[in-house]
Amino acid sequence: MKFSTLPLSDEMLQNLDALEYNETTPIQAEALPHILQKKDLIAQAKTGSGKTAAFGIGLLEALDVKKFRVQSLVLCPTRELADQVAKELRRLARFKHNIKILILCGGESFGKQLGSLSHQAHIIVGTPGRVLKHLNKESLSLENLQTLVLDEADRMLDMGFIEEIESVLSFAPKERQTLLFSATYDDEVLEISKKFQDDAVIVKASQDELANEIEEIFYECSDKADTLVKLFSTYKPQNVIVFTNTKVAAKELAQSLQKNKIDALAIHGDLEQYERNDVLVQFANKSCPVLIATDVAARGLDIKELSMVVNYDLPHGVETYTHRIGRTGRAGAKGIAISLYEAFEIEKADEYKGASREFLDAHSLVAQEGFEMKPEFITLVIEGGKKDKLRAGDILGALTATKDLTGDAIGKIDIYDRQAYVAIQSKFVDIAEKKLKYGQIKKKKFSVWVL
Ligand code: ADP
Ligand code: MG
Repeated sequence: MKFSTLPLSDEMLQNLDALEYNETTPIQAEALPHILQKKDLIAQAKTGSGKTAAFGIGLLEALDVKKFRVQSLVLCPTRELADQVAKELRRLARFKHNIKILILCGGESFGKQLGSLSHQAHIIVGTPGRVLKHLNKESLSLENLQTLVLDEADRMLDMGFIEEIESVLSFAPKERQTLLFSATYDDEVLEISKKFQDDAVIVKASQDELANEIEEIFYECSDKADTLVKLFSTYKPQNVIVFTNTKVAAKELAQSLQKNKIDALAIHGDLEQYERNDVLVQFANKSCPVLIATDVAARGLDIKELSMVVNYDLPHGVETYTHRIGRTGRAGAKGIAISLYEAFEIEKADEYKGASREFLDAHSLVAQEGFEMKPEFITLVIEGGKKDKLRAGDILGALTATKDLTGDAIGKIDIYDRQAYVAIQSKFVDIAEKKLKYGQIKKKKFSVWVL
């Protein structure tokens, strides 16, 4: 779609032309009409789809440059993302003179920010923790705020920023436009929408609108454990849940996979609550690529993007089968569901024949030499949590203050009453551990260990 079909100012159109933004991206085409009408909106589209300009154009067109007050606030999960957003906003703002965009992130000098704020700004881009600090100290006022943007809302939720966001919003006027941008879309995102938005329009980039797409393959094999390794080596899934029918099988399978250099954890009814939690946290934050589970143990497990489900044991009944495989291929991403059976189970497997299910022979599968599955992240446990008033921003701040670690190295942050879990990209885990162990978080020392 051409930008000129939208009710945009001539200056904005000329600038978009100069930037060689010849046409809207799909998400911009869907979102901009609503944004320009000042509606609340949830926009979901994958990374790189042009979400920044979607809200950026809206913010800038609504801006009253002569009114030198904060009119828009964009909250981002990390300093790096805030920098990127501010950069894109500045490019989009080139056509209007004197628009002041200020970045407020943790890890930067608070005093310097105080100085900048005393000269006022039109648009603030920042991380929730630092923005909240300025609001509490009254160095920032949202009295004239018109539009609030939650960018990368899913990532902010992942990083445990919900409380900070809620507090920031308590400073914002009720009459405002709230825009929520996210790469994924699930119940959690919907929940914050309900809390913070009014009658939000939901838009998704059309390529993401596809229904669940799950490739279903059945393999007849004689050695399931060995076949499983070959399957992983062939399909190279990012993350997998493998279902067994008994907890003994779950435990044994995890051990056998570990011997084959595949990082796997089992979850079953025999685990203590805290052990169960340790496993679930590690799987959800990408510190463990393979989870072995029984149906009961997997109940209530909500993983956003799961590339593969394996029925190591055929389930008792088609309903359980459907339930199991429905965990992959969500939000338009393609998923693979594989079921294993041995010769003596042919009759049971036959019940699944038909539809678009493929039946193949596992003997054609081979394992690649030296194949292993290692996690992208490693989890650090901090012996401190909500009861210690520890927040995601504090942990992020402690990790990134000296800049040898950036926000990109940090994954999901989960904060419980007395413990916090932080996923760190594997290659940075040593630096991160030292930093937390020998440094301080919120001027306090905490015990820290690798899970
Ligand atoms: P997202 O936030 O969805 O991950 P970005 O907003 O960072 O994506 O945009 C990705 C890239 O696309 C940026 O480099 C941006 O300048 C560029 N871009 C955005 N909109 C357009 C457009 N309409 N035409 C061409 N490039 C665009
Ligand atoms: Mg973005």
